[in-house]
Amino acid sequence: MTRKSWNGRAPAGRIAYVDGRYLPHAQAGVHIEDRGLQLGDAVYEVCAISDGLLLDEEEHLDRLERSLGEIGMAMPMARRVLSLVMRELVRRNRARTGLLYLQITRGAARRDHPIPQEPPRPTLIMTVRELDAAALSQRHEEGIKVITRPDERWARCDIKTTQLLANLLAKTAARKAGAYEAWLVDDDGFVTEGSSTNAWIVDAEGRLTTRQLSHEILPGVTRRVIVAAAAEAQLRIFERKFTPEEASRAREAFISSATGVVPVTAIDGVRIGEGEPGPVTRRVQQLYAHRSAAAAAKLAR
Ligand code: PLP
Repeated sequence: MTRKSWNGRAPAGRIAYVDGRYLPHAQAGVHIEDRGLQLGDAVYEVCAISDGLLLDEEEHLDRLERSLGEIGMAMPMARRVLSLVMRELVRRNRARTGLLYLQITRGAARRDHPIPQEPPRPTLIMTVRELDAAALSQRHEEGIKVITRPDERWARCDIKTTQLLANLLAKTAARKAGAYEAWLVDDDGFVTEGSSTNAWIVDAEGRLTTRQLSHEILPGVTRRVIVAAAAEAQLRIFERKFTPEEASRAREAFISSATGVVPVTAIDGVRIGEGEPGPVTRRVQQLYAHRSAAAAAKLAR
């Protein structure tokens, strides 16, 4: 889309928030010595936007506060204010279906490894991106393929840090192999999670399995919502490790993230179940959609 065709109305995703200001993307930037940029000294969050509303906002803010705490930082502003800024950015971008990204870095300081004793003012940036709703629903309908890759990340994957290089390399390998996601496998041969999603399998009895929470995986907000909703719906869940071999024998598999529950139809070229999204995955998709819609409606009131 050219600038001229905007008709004075910015398309979604063009207004960013940087340290107290709402700016067009082209004018938004951070200091060249920002520790997030130079050292990856930063954490982030991603919230889904559905019908113009932020989904699971409280849970994302809880995780943000935790990630910050784990690297010795505090929230850059009161939660209530942060939430107002997030909503205002969604509004200014006129986003209906999309994602809000929020990064907090330790701020700009002379480049040095030790965290400054007098910490600089943290940098807070937010961007909004519209998602292709048709492509998203096609993925949800048809499912995706995954490959497995060694988990080469650091030892604190429970912190949502912007240091994503190992995740990016794994995701790129997946795309090159014609798959959508890479499931990461630890040194003992067990799946940890996807490069940007949590990993799930379903056995012949319809029971769900996903890896237990630890330093080795990100505590996914969607994972948490699914665990709660599935328990309420009397679905059985095991939170334990599983191998790619067990996954390839599973009846069904899926991934979860802020963009929802997506069926997995093949792992490393091996068809899962019938090679089509299965009934338990469909049920989890419904439970998740129902739970998120109810939460968003509550927020809108
Ligand atoms: N695991 C990793 C490594 C991720 O990066 C993400 C999301 O970005 C997830 C899992 C899913 O988390 P959530 O459900 O909070 O989006």
